[in-house]
Amino acid sequence: MKSKRKLAAIWMIVLVVCMVACGKNGNSMLPNTKETTTVSVQTTTAKSSEHTEQIGAKAEQKTAQPETTNKSESQEKAENTEKGTAEIPASTIDESAVAASIQAAEQASREEESRKASEAAAAESSRQAAEQASREEESRKVSEAAAAESSRQAAEQASREEESRKASEAAAAESSRQAAEQASREEESRKASEAAAAASQQAAEQASREEESRKASEAAAAESSRQAAEQASREEESRKVSEAAAAESSRQAAEAAAAARQTPNYIANTNTHKFHYPGCSSVDQMKEEHKWHFYGDRQELINQGYDPCKRCNP
Ligand SMILES: [Zn+2]
Repeated sequence: MKSKRKLAAIWMIVLVVCMVACGKNGNSMLPNTKETTTVSVQTTTAKSSEHTEQIGAKAEQKTAQPETTNKSESQEKAENTEKGTAEIPASTIDESAVAASIQAAEQASREEESRKASEAAAAESSRQAAEQASREEESRKVSEAAAAESSRQAAEQASREEESRKASEAAAAESSRQAAEQASREEESRKASEAAAAASQQAAEQASREEESRKASEAAAAESSRQAAEQASREEESRKVSEAAAAESSRQAAEAAAAARQTPNYIANTNTHKFHYPGCSSVDQMKEEHKWHFYGDRQELINQGYDPCKRCNP
């Protein structure tokens, strides 16, 4: 960049030199223009005097051979400008022209740099724009792919929702059917329970009737029992009466037995050791002191050594 700039400056100097040569020959430059350019050179050359010197030196080297006089002239010009002298020698036009050309060359160089910089910036901007476009393209593709994926997923989702809807409809239908069955069963159950309630009421009535019947039978049983008790009481009385009668009868029998006992079974003769029936004629002839009224068995008498009478034969 620097070398290019220098090269451009050199070329500008050569051009200026040519112009100066032309000016010398023609000398057609206007005095007014001369003055204004000189003034501007005076103000600006002070800043870039060094640079001008360097460039001037280089220009000398390049254009050394053709004119050695020009070299000294330009040096003088620079020195004069540095000092700020108002003196305008004969070569003032050339010096100011050179300074102007140097400025123009610098300006051109700066413009060239600026242009290149702006070109580079434009190229960079274009590259960035291309990259941006590329990125946007990629982003667009990605977003298209994402949109396609999203659309596919939405379609799947819609399909699943449709299936889910159908499933839920089927479930609802099934549920409704089951509810209807349930209602039917409940209706049946209700009727059955009503029937059961009716049966229960009948059973209750039946139980009530049975209860009444039971009470009636209990009452009857109680009555019967009471009657039986009365009967038993009567029978007891009757038994007591009959027992009393039996006792009386027994007493009478005992009395009878006692009465019978007063008549002995046999009359034994303690003197002769013979025994007789009480009605035997031999008893009448016995003495009262020999009579033994025996109440017992004839064998007892025999065992005691008594003999039965031959007449009454007991
Ligand atoms: Zn006798």
